[in-house]
Amino acid sequence: MTVTMDTLVSLCKRRGFVFQSSEIYGGTGSCYDYGPLGVELKNNLKRLWWRDFVQNRPDMVGIDASILMHPMVWKASGHLENFTDPMVDCRECKLRFRADDVDTLAWTHYCEATKGNKFTIPAAEPCSHCGARRTLCPDCGKGELTPPRRFNLMFKTFMGPVEEEASVAYLRPETAQAMFVNFENVLQSMRLKLPFGIAQAGRSFRNEITPGNFIFRTREFEQMEIEYFVNPRETVEGRPADEYWHDRWIADCMAWFRRYGLREENLRLREHEKDELSHYSKRTVDIDYRFPIGWSELMGIANRTDFDLKQHAKFSGKSLTYFDEERKEHIVPYVVEPASGVDRALLAFLADAYTEEEVRGEKRVVLRFHPELAPVKVAVLPLLKKRDEIVKAAHAIRATLAREWRVVYDDTAAIGRLYRRQDEVGTPYCVTVDVQTVGDSDKGEAGDGKVTIRDRDSMGQARVPIEALTGIFRDLLSGGDWAKVASEFPAAK
Ligand code: ATP
Repeated sequence: MTVTMDTLVSLCKRRGFVFQSSEIYGGTGSCYDYGPLGVELKNNLKRLWWRDFVQNRPDMVGIDASILMHPMVWKASGHLENFTDPMVDCRECKLRFRADDVDTLAWTHYCEATKGNKFTIPAAEPCSHCGARRTLCPDCGKGELTPPRRFNLMFKTFMGPVEEEASVAYLRPETAQAMFVNFENVLQSMRLKLPFGIAQAGRSFRNEITPGNFIFRTREFEQMEIEYFVNPRETVEGRPADEYWHDRWIADCMAWFRRYGLREENLRLREHEKDELSHYSKRTVDIDYRFPIGWSELMGIANRTDFDLKQHAKFSGKSLTYFDEERKEHIVPYVVEPASGVDRALLAFLADAYTEEEVRGEKRVVLRFHPELAPVKVAVLPLLKKRDEIVKAAHAIRATLAREWRVVYDDTAAIGRLYRRQDEVGTPYCVTVDVQTVGDSDKGEAGDGKVTIRDRDSMGQARVPIEALTGIFRDLLSGGDWAKVASEFPAAK
């Protein structure tokens, strides 16, 4: 099923994933705050990316660079000159539009033929009364538009106490440049051999003209980027190393998104046309996702050649080369860049996980998150909150499991309701403590020391000894099979 953006936005707010930033003041344009569940989901996403692409690989290392970099970085990288969008302004209402967007917007028209009545006319269509086409501002319909002017998307600020040209600094619009300017430091300190990659996850800022679609395009966002350096003189499997590694990274990134839950039918590759390529790119391939707004870029994987290292060598006067022992020569490595956005990936995982189904005549909303992504792994629920022993046992179980995972305790509703609430935020397992677990001391009945585990996706149950819980969850939460647990520890019918 395809979920609408409105449904996701409202679920995110209601259940503490994402809030509008500074909402009590009316909100800040296209800035969002991650709430208690959103921050867990986002941290899980970044941790998995780091584990799979840095920690597990012998050819990768990471860095965490500062957001404010030397202004020359942006001159060398081409951002000062090229990181721009052509903009037009309305002379009347002062609204600003991307020049290439103007003709795709519906426009406001005061039609002479109908005594000046106001109409909203669909994009690219003439007025059906007088035949006029849009020449004025699409929003107010009254103002002339200025000719296109280039607008730089970098946020400008000042370093130090004086606001003057000499102290201008920019918030980084991408994390990539820090990997290039630290190339020599990383190479020497870690004694690396090509091919190797440097990864970084962190904030980037772009003063986007038309942000929107929730967290898809914002002005402050997080990126997870890799710069993978290869020796362009080498061949792998009969192909130039840069081309070979470019395809390898495309395949690895696709596999990663599939592994954590994005469905095949919602993913596609899109090759950039020659005239669309960035100034540094030999070839770029996007991984597109079928977002609620339609197919759009989830991440890009570019072959940036030796452009960046050469530019920084030129502007800094430092040599940024690699000594090829075999050929006894200094070379400038080529670089393949898998660049993804944390927020955009999070939106894709949310959209893909969202399902609605009917269970016994009632709607059940489930976020079918991969267990490693799920913000809460286990919810511990007492069947009766009036029985002290049950509540005590449930708190103790939560405390034990919480040493390894994010685990919550909830007793604020009846059990059916509590299950639904956990389904809606994607908690893979619930543990229920009941009378049988603790027994009844008044009647002299001992408890069996077992609890019920309930599986989110199948809604099946298993009855397991409390001591076995940690072991079972270690297995289940790292991809173990629920059917095996259910058959080993059957729940009483
Ligand atoms: P777009 O064409 O959507 O503006 P881009 O091609 O400029 O994106 P890159 O510079 O390749 O994007 O950045 C890499 C990734 O960073 C993108 O694939 C996306 O996931 C993320 N990203 C870029 N800009 C934004 C933004 N304004 N808000 C959220 N994520 C972003």
